[in-house]
Amino acid sequence: MAWKVPLADLDYGPEEERAVIDVLRSKWLTMGAVTQSFEGAFAALTGARHAMAVSNATQALHLACLALGIGPGDEVIVPSLTFVATANAVLYCGADVRFAEVLSSDNLTVDPVSIEACITPRTKAVIPMHYAGYPCRMPEIMALAEEHGLAVIEDAAHAPGATLDGRALGTFGEVGCFSFFSNKNLPTGEGGMLVTDRDDLAAKLRLLRSHGMTTLTYDRHKGHAFSYDVVELGYNYRIDEIRASLGLTQLAKLADNNAKRRLWTRSYWDALADLPVALPFKAADQGTSAYHLFPMLLPEGTNREAFMASLRDAGVQSSIHYRPVHTFSYYRERYGEISLPVTEALAAREVTLPLYPTMGEAGLGIVVEAATALLAHIV
Ligand SMILES: *Cc1c(COP(=O)(O)O)cnc(C)c1O
Repeated sequence: MAWKVPLADLDYGPEEERAVIDVLRSKWLTMGAVTQSFEGAFAALTGARHAMAVSNATQALHLACLALGIGPGDEVIVPSLTFVATANAVLYCGADVRFAEVLSSDNLTVDPVSIEACITPRTKAVIPMHYAGYPCRMPEIMALAEEHGLAVIEDAAHAPGATLDGRALGTFGEVGCFSFFSNKNLPTGEGGMLVTDRDDLAAKLRLLRSHGMTTLTYDRHKGHAFSYDVVELGYNYRIDEIRASLGLTQLAKLADNNAKRRLWTRSYWDALADLPVALPFKAADQGTSAYHLFPMLLPEGTNREAFMASLRDAGVQSSIHYRPVHTFSYYRERYGEISLPVTEALAAREVTLPLYPTMGEAGLGIVVEAATALLAHIV
């Protein structure tokens, strides 16, 4: 299907091609200078003391949980309205998740009151997820974490370049996890980043990322080291130089591209203001989101499938963010029936419209026209 307006699209050009060719010609494909530059640039972007690139954000979340000592018998609180990887990462460690509710139709991030209600003597950590790049209620979440001795891992997959009170999302908790998957704000194909201010966690994360080995290929190549020990059960979760070069190139475009996403988001909000839909995040937007997605809530009782099918017929791709994790078969079998009425009601109404830097007024106009025509029949 050739979409008139796809859900997402890359802003790739000659810069990305040149960056990749430079890496290919250098004949150094992994764990090298480009990855180090990418990590340095990402640390500068976020203001974090340490940034460590990995092959995807799922690995970042897994390593964050491991580095914080999360294991069998522990519980970690996550929102159910998230991508399944947020919860899966906890289960990889042998721990269990507890699902918290989101706030409301105005704000689809996790509800601190619901987090507090999920705390048990086994709770070790909480993973807030900055939905669509909009900040979770971090001051309240950090206060709760401190009061109850919980670690905070931020799922900032949607949030590179986003801030709250002047501070980068991903740097409020112990560890922040970012995704560079193809449809995210800083796409490299597959890719991810961990950030932390804690030296001890950074050292542990670096070990776990590379087989638990005490020295790396790059250091041995440079003659800095000749042998190594293995001191942890580690993984190979490294990124390669090709994708790091894409990351560096995209990082240079991130501020502009996030600004374009903000522009399209505000145009959508204005254009859809009189329709019978709810527009999450509109009321409280501070202009510091990464504007990763454009979520919209249909009126209760609307046939969402039919709505999305009609958009498709108009050449407009749409999506759903998300089917709540607790409703998936695997999680149902593991935890039984769980009731999260706020999450379930909001998720059932959610439709995500196309949003990407290069969509332009024309792309936006096509989506608005199609959505407006369809919604005119409703109510
Ligand atoms: C994309 C995403 C992830 C996983 O990222 P990958 O890099 O694809 O592993 C995790 N959490 C959220 C909220 C995401 O959207």
